[in-house]
Amino acid sequence: MKHRMTQYDLLRRLPQERLSLLRALGNLADEGGVSLYLVGGVVRDLLLKRENWDLDLTVEGDGIAFARLVADRYGAGLAVFERFATARLAFPDGLKMDIATTRRESYAQPAVLPTVQSASIEEDLSRRDFTINAVAVQLNPGQFGCVLDPYGGQRDLRARTIRVLYAGSFQDDPTRIFRAIRFEQRFGFRLERTTVRLLVQAASTNLIQQLSGPRLQNEILLLFAEHDPVRAIARLGQLKLLRFLHRRLCYTKNVKRVVTAVPEALAWWARRFPAFVIDRPIVSLMALSSESSAVVVAAMIRRLALSREQAKNVSAGGSLVDHVLKRLTNKGTVRPSQVYRLLADFSDEALVLLVAKQVSAQHGVRLNLLKRHLAAYVKNKAVKTALAGRDLQAMGLKPGPQYKTILEKLLDARIDGMITTEADERAFVQKRIGLAGCGKAMLTR
Ligand code: ATP
Ligand code: MG
Repeated sequence: MKHRMTQYDLLRRLPQERLSLLRALGNLADEGGVSLYLVGGVVRDLLLKRENWDLDLTVEGDGIAFARLVADRYGAGLAVFERFATARLAFPDGLKMDIATTRRESYAQPAVLPTVQSASIEEDLSRRDFTINAVAVQLNPGQFGCVLDPYGGQRDLRARTIRVLYAGSFQDDPTRIFRAIRFEQRFGFRLERTTVRLLVQAASTNLIQQLSGPRLQNEILLLFAEHDPVRAIARLGQLKLLRFLHRRLCYTKNVKRVVTAVPEALAWWARRFPAFVIDRPIVSLMALSSESSAVVVAAMIRRLALSREQAKNVSAGGSLVDHVLKRLTNKGTVRPSQVYRLLADFSDEALVLLVAKQVSAQHGVRLNLLKRHLAAYVKNKAVKTALAGRDLQAMGLKPGPQYKTILEKLLDARIDGMITTEADERAFVQKRIGLAGCGKAMLTR
């Protein structure tokens, strides 16, 4: 039995050109003799009147064959994933669209990827994560705009509730544990009572440990990429899920304060340096692990299979940051060149973490001092010396390790404003050659 509810106005919430495209695809589906539906997050967000640019379609029939038809008709690029019976289309105007085949999933064991077989739209909706994500809208001309909601997705949206579709859902796919928190926090919804019980039960086993590193990483970073990662992290803590990053992760009051300060630090950075884009989720992860030992952080990096660059950032989040913070916020004067040298190995993400740590220390004067240092540092990163190694050689200096030292000193002097022109630099070098007392030895001629 089909549980259909007509709501023709729903699709009208889409921009006009999207609506026209969906109508045209519905006609194409009729030509191909298949049923076509809009499904998942985009339907949920239409119902919530939230913007969503992902168009996820599913076909009762052969989804890949239908995707080929669409690609031909619109000159769209096509990538086919046979194993999952899905295809991704890239339209000439930049629009991306996923087309799947309605399917049944079976899990050979918990926490691994499922095998898929084609099935009806109702069955396809029944294997989804939550009722709010299991609503479809038909696109074939006869039923264009008809809402198919067999599991009460609209009721749960109205009640602001996240509910799984069956008792073994978290066991089959523990990534749904993190997805539940992601949607709960994003929409300010509550987990339904049985769903919380099932979630806590699944989280108390070692199922999450069985998730592969990349899958766990994906969930954690998606959660931290949400608008309010602070609440998401607090919720992970409350549900005792942070232990899956590492069982000895240090989640102290102080760490909570730093995590809480990250959004303010990010906002400052974005205002001050809009051109330098930050890997925001990684900053939250750095904050979260900022008081854990290097051994724990290294194990967490391995568990999450972080990329080399992410790993470098996260491992820089510890004691080095504290040491530099102390130097930069102490009363004594620090020359701009010293700031430059202190921060030279820091990524932009580590600089944001410095700010977050200082925000969390709630010392306004020192925070302003730090911000001034950072602003000057970012500006000074663009400073270059006029002279290079070959100029030193032309000045008669024998090539060797002293080149590096001299060029660094030149740069420091430039940054500190002691010299400003190429002539200044030449005089500076000549003086150093003289001062070295072994000028003759250093000269090639
Ligand atoms: P977002 O707005 O974050 O993209 P979404 O609901 O669109 O949220 P996607 O990950 O893009 O989520 O997935 C699209 C749809 O696929 C979901 O709405 C849901 O119906 C289904 N889905 C995704 N991941 C799972 C999962 N792990 N288990 C079951 N169904 C899933
Ligand atoms: Mg989506």
